[in-house]
Amino acid sequence: MTRPTRTIALALAALALPLGAQAPSTLGLARDARIAEALADVSPARLRSMDSTLVTFGTRHTMSDTLSATRGIGAARRWIHAELTQFSKECGGCLRVEYDTGSAVIARSPQRPTQHLVNVVAWLPGRDADRVVVIGGHYDSCICSVDNMDATSDAPGADDDGSGTVAVMELARVVSKRFPKGFDATIAFALYTGEEMGLLGSTQFAERLQREQKTVTAAFTDDIVGNVIADDGRVDSTSVRVFAVDSLAVGGGELARYVWATGALYQPRFEVLPVLRLDRLGRGGDHSPFVRQGIPGLRFTERLENYKRQHLPTDALNDVDFGYVAKVARLNLATVVSLASAPPRPESTAYQRDRASGGQSFTIRWSPVAGAASYELLVRRTTDATYKRIVPVGNVTEFLLDEQLDDVWVGVRTVGADGHRSLTTVIGAPGGPRLATPARRGAASPTTPASPE
Ligand SMILES: [Zn+2]
Repeated sequence: MTRPTRTIALALAALALPLGAQAPSTLGLARDARIAEALADVSPARLRSMDSTLVTFGTRHTMSDTLSATRGIGAARRWIHAELTQFSKECGGCLRVEYDTGSAVIARSPQRPTQHLVNVVAWLPGRDADRVVVIGGHYDSCICSVDNMDATSDAPGADDDGSGTVAVMELARVVSKRFPKGFDATIAFALYTGEEMGLLGSTQFAERLQREQKTVTAAFTDDIVGNVIADDGRVDSTSVRVFAVDSLAVGGGELARYVWATGALYQPRFEVLPVLRLDRLGRGGDHSPFVRQGIPGLRFTERLENYKRQHLPTDALNDVDFGYVAKVARLNLATVVSLASAPPRPESTAYQRDRASGGQSFTIRWSPVAGAASYELLVRRTTDATYKRIVPVGNVTEFLLDEQLDDVWVGVRTVGADGHRSLTTVIGAPGGPRLATPARRGAASPTTPASPE
């Protein structure tokens, strides 16, 4: 009886809608001409040239040689540092370039050695030095599919993650050149070590930012962003996946919607495919250490991976499509600059059923944001992928909304003086921060626990 079953399965497959057939909401959003102009500066030729240099270091294994001037991870990071320093010279010293150093145990090695870890970070200071948007990629490589701990054989890592490394370097160049005075938030362009050894470099950096009490608005990683041909011959150079865990309290899904909308605004022919999970199955990336801290984090990854090259000596330069890397970098640029230009999102929210409307409307409150010109409420059904209604409310922090809040998700976002929008804070997200408001006479406090029924 296998034949009829198979026929039915094929028939059903033919009827299925394409999974990507959804459109992002760009309600209330408009292109910023300065960002649109900057996108043209992202150069596939420069991306290729930088990645070809990375490959010449032979291996960038985290435990490889650090003394040679030509081979190993030490030579690679000194070159990255020198390139970023040159970009800073070209923008009048606008970038602060540093080595972010520390050490960690390599738990994956049987000997469990303690390893010196060096990230390279370029900071573009903003008006707020304590609020940071992080965009990173890992410059270490490996041939882990052959041997995790082989620190001497060639491990070109042209795609994983030479592609993401050069995308972040190119962003540092273009953004610093176009916007040397920075934005509202500070941007950290971070090149991590130790990713292939267990996200060690990004963990070190995330912990440092936490120790320094920085507020991280979002943490992005570009990891494997240059392959367009799968091993079965399928080709896709017109879409990219973004992975973010859909926690309403943290806002990973809201971050994915932000990237989705930004892509539609600035690069409509390059499709963003949001995947609302932390990462690909069984895989990890440098956004995860931030997500563990409760920070919205997101990973950019090519639509089609080639599993016959990853973590192998065959991850070669010729198989990276730098026109594709440039598209990812442009999406990165528009997203990071938009977010850094906007004020922060409201930190906490509260809601209260409106008795005068018979309980069919809700009063919504949110914490005020310094630098906000106004606020917007966005509404979607709980089953909608994206917001369907926008309510501009002006410069207030309380609004009576004609929605049955039981049945929808409502987000509030900040609008800056120049029109940039923050991420959205979801009202009443389970586990999300609640606004402590003084109880009003005759009204239940919005922080009152829910009734058991
Ligand atoms: Zn990687």
